[in-house]
Amino acid sequence: MFVWDDHCGFELLPDAPLRPLLQPWLDANVSYLSINAYYDPVPWTRAVENIAALRRRLPIEVPETQIVSSVSEIDDAYANRKMAVTFDIEGMNALNGRLDLVQFYYDLGVRHMLLAYNRNNLAGSGCHDEDVGLTDYGRQVVDEMNRVGMVIDCSHSGFRTTMEAMERSSDPVIFSHSNPKALADHERNITDEQIRACAETGGVIGINGVNLFLGEKEASPAGVARHAAYIADLTGQENVGISLDYSPDLEKEPDAIENTFVLDLFDSHPEYWPDDAGYDGSIMCLHVRDLANVANDLRKVGFDQEGVAGVMGGNFRRVAERVWK
Ligand SMILES: [Zn+2]
Repeated sequence: MFVWDDHCGFELLPDAPLRPLLQPWLDANVSYLSINAYYDPVPWTRAVENIAALRRRLPIEVPETQIVSSVSEIDDAYANRKMAVTFDIEGMNALNGRLDLVQFYYDLGVRHMLLAYNRNNLAGSGCHDEDVGLTDYGRQVVDEMNRVGMVIDCSHSGFRTTMEAMERSSDPVIFSHSNPKALADHERNITDEQIRACAETGGVIGINGVNLFLGEKEASPAGVARHAAYIADLTGQENVGISLDYSPDLEKEPDAIENTFVLDLFDSHPEYWPDDAGYDGSIMCLHVRDLANVANDLRKVGFDQEGVAGVMGGNFRRVAERVWK
């Protein structure tokens, strides 16, 4: 089956060995993966360093992957049994206030970018901050992303900011990894109004595999299917995809993730993860190997065969075909 995971957000550092990070997705035969290269709490130059590291070292350290720039290259990679890879950026701090960097990142393989990551930035508001809406600068970035062919991603962003970005964009807009608030009441999750607005752009909402956002004690394939079914009932099965967020295996890889760095970041920027929002040791994510079970559970909650293929990959692929240039 063609499987598209639209976001894995490991704490990437430029010197991290790449094989342990990617192995869970390779083992699970994922066809396409968007690797997170940056998020707003860290200096913007980290985006450049991470993308440079990925572009140079992925072909050497993980030759089963192929960095792609088009949907036809994804199809070629699939035919050659390689995992297609592009990059995503979580938050527009990565632009350092410069529109020019949208094209720059696109040319280096970034195919979707969040407006904000939990907190406000120059472009708009995060979901854990006061929502002041999309700024003038944010509108310019949306226009530039439309021009360049980079997909606008509303995950982690404030309600009003996302509604204004979806209104503004001439292309389909996604929530790469966000779940329905109706099923799990968390500020990272999204309302029915946001889901409908996303569907109206022709976009897709990727179901997040983290237990906190699924509203489960332990993240389960059935939980992912339940959230997918909710969106399908609200808008249509063509508006649902998968983005697990990360893999539990990574927590066992001290070499891959420098835990001290992550803890420093929690200490120096606690505002990104508010105390009362449940970001604690109980967080866990569905393992990517469970995606086969997700496909089975999608059938159980009413998706037909075509619907399952859409959720597992076809729907995000359709958005890429529409937007990427
Ligand atoms: Zn995220």
